Amino acid sequence: MLRVGINGFGTIGKRVADAVRAQPDMTVAGVAKRTPDYEAEIARDRGYSLFAAAETTPFTAAGIDVAGQVRQLVAASDVVVDATPAGVGERNRALYEELETPAIYQGGEDASVAPVSFNARANYDEAVGADAVRVVSCNTTGLSRVLAPLEERYGIEKVRATLVRRGGDPSQTGRGPINDTLPDPVSIPSHHAPDVKTVFPELSIDTMGMKVPATLMHTHAINLTLRATPTAEDVRDLLTAEGRLLVIPERLGIDGAGKLKEYTRDAGRPRGDVWENCIWAESLTVEPLSDGRADCYLFQAIHQEADVVPENVDAIRAIAGLADGPESVERTDEALGIGCGLAGIEPDTTAPARDAASDD
Ligand code: NAD
Repeated sequence: MLRVGINGFGTIGKRVADAVRAQPDMTVAGVAKRTPDYEAEIARDRGYSLFAAAETTPFTAAGIDVAGQVRQLVAASDVVVDATPAGVGERNRALYEELETPAIYQGGEDASVAPVSFNARANYDEAVGADAVRVVSCNTTGLSRVLAPLEERYGIEKVRATLVRRGGDPSQTGRGPINDTLPDPVSIPSHHAPDVKTVFPELSIDTMGMKVPATLMHTHAINLTLRATPTAEDVRDLLTAEGRLLVIPERLGIDGAGKLKEYTRDAGRPRGDVWENCIWAESLTVEPLSDGRADCYLFQAIHQEADVVPENVDAIRAIAGLADGPESVERTDEALGIGCGLAGIEPDTTAPARDAASDD
């Protein structure tokens, strides 16, 4: 069993810890936290060995036993997942390098933190045996997953994506906006396009970012020019076959992130997590161009707290050389139950796929 230490037990770290614990080939060596808050109590209650990122005194004063300091956790781990706030991972890098523990960083870090920016569907092999890997952000993960099969099957000439981003996670009470819709950043392209290019260096992509008063999910409006002219149904079948893409049939009546989250809670997902990209089937539209190319459109929702979690598990296997990409993804998905609970979702064969000609 591979021993995995998790440094940072917040929104991402606690989910990664639970996902690692569910795997058949890895175990949680411990988790590290800076603050003895409610999440530290959860770590203790779930039986994780808890290490202090800084002083142990605040933990003992709060009545929470700690197993030691983060240095001991890193030394006892075969791989460490750094899920500390953006920028802190870079500062932790010297410790991981000194103790020669391969490290996985998150998308809040600059791409220079690791030699590989990772998405399991797009570039798993590049991370095999690496010393360090950065799992790209929630938005870049969501884009990479949907772009990889389209690029492989049809070739992509150009991507234009507008990312309507949640203002903050539900627990981030200090974030906003609370009564506005912000172009964020105002300049174009937003930082997401260069980030996607860390995974697909040759891709032509422009992104525009917004922030809105919502906490549940991001919504992407994507338009891409394909180097072929599939039908909308072809594209829908292609995307439906991808395990981490959930094509939502119209008949479910899911009109946004609220119902999506309610659906996953009803289905018994832990924390109501949606690990998959959620693509609205009726948004999939293909408009043939005159020269053998086609414009393709879709809307997808991305659960920012959850979509990077299976990617972290795959990054652990890649960095440790435990499996090849397809094996790892299959093992991760089976252990987490990706595709389960929501498995009743099948392609909606009763509703004809709409293409531009029939679109009103
Ligand atoms: P978070 O604030 O929810 O959790 C961070 C955790 O790290 C907390 O437990 C905190 O106590 C702990 N911590 C703070 N300083 C520390 C230190 N010096 N050493 C060890 N632990 C420390 O943050 P998050 O939202 O989980 O984000 C973590 C990373 O994941 C960031 O790079 C972020 O950009 C990225 N990410 C976040 C999201 C998201 O939507 N929340 C999505 C994808 C990627």
